[in-house]
Amino acid sequence: MSLSEFSLIERYFSSGTAVRDDVLLGVGDDAALLAPRAGESLALSLDTLVEGVHFPVNTSPEDVGYKSLAVNLSDMAAMGAEPAWMLLGLTLPNADEVWLESFCRGMHPLATEYRVALAGGDTTRGPLTISVQICGFVPQSQALRRSGAKVGDRIYVTGQLGDAGLGLQLVLNNSGLGLNPSRRDYFISRLNRPTPRVAAGLALRGLATSAIDVSDGLAADLGHILQASGVGATINVDALPVADEVKGLSVEWWNLPLSAGDDYELCFTVPADRDEQLQSVLNQMGTSITCIGQIEAEPGLRLCHSNGEAVANHAGGYQHFG
Ligand code: ADP
Ligand code: MG
Repeated sequence: MSLSEFSLIERYFSSGTAVRDDVLLGVGDDAALLAPRAGESLALSLDTLVEGVHFPVNTSPEDVGYKSLAVNLSDMAAMGAEPAWMLLGLTLPNADEVWLESFCRGMHPLATEYRVALAGGDTTRGPLTISVQICGFVPQSQALRRSGAKVGDRIYVTGQLGDAGLGLQLVLNNSGLGLNPSRRDYFISRLNRPTPRVAAGLALRGLATSAIDVSDGLAADLGHILQASGVGATINVDALPVADEVKGLSVEWWNLPLSAGDDYELCFTVPADRDEQLQSVLNQMGTSITCIGQIEAEPGLRLCHSNGEAVANHAGGYQHFG
């Protein structure tokens, strides 16, 4: 690696994120030295973002910096883990300082907000690709797995679904779809700047029987819970927390939240008899939650309306749950 690349690392990646006592040695040596917490599991996860695949070409570097950390924080949230450390693998077409500065403007404040220290990484030349490996802590028996959903559990989601899907349509079609500018900006920011539901994940420790973050559309991600838990579910499409603008897109508007990705909300299950406990942690979660259905013994995902009428499964990314 050239000297200028070392000075890039020094300038952009040796400071700016959280300072933590448990980072014994950070950026600058052959490896970082970290002090794990006694009695807790390390939750480790890695997500890669490739330009043109995971974010549209021409996404601002600031949004790319934000999102590449946010999606990893979302994985910590989905495990009920407290984020602590990250490694950054950066592949850049060239050492563009304007780009790097903007990238850090997106990533560093988010890292600081969630108390994540950048402990090391790797910087190479090539097509724009950002890999973040994140590490957090969770007490051994309290991690939120996909496999614990039980018949009778209620299914919940945080926040609002389908916003990012509409945001993506706005970006790709380069059209306003008749929305006023502030609503247009809202949907695009939900695509580029998802809020990681870390507080919700922490509040759900020892309370939710399963959890996942919704990155590939609700049908696919809830499907992972159903498969891992060996159960099925019915969800009420009329209960889905969805913006009016998304409902205005088509008669069968629920296909958007069911099949479009990038919302990074949590989907989780809680036994009905833990409702009081759930209500008591609501204000720690930093977001609303909505009950959208229940876990059942019969495998597969079924959709219905509030009046009980079944919704036929259509094409649109979730046929395999018929
Ligand atoms: P090595 O040749 O031993 O792999 P590198 O030249 O790749 O070392 O990196 C030197 C130091 O800079 C290491 O401590 C590494 O963790 C850190 N580093 C490299 N790239 C990044 C990055 N994108 N973000 C954070 N730290 C980085
Ligand atoms: Mg290296």
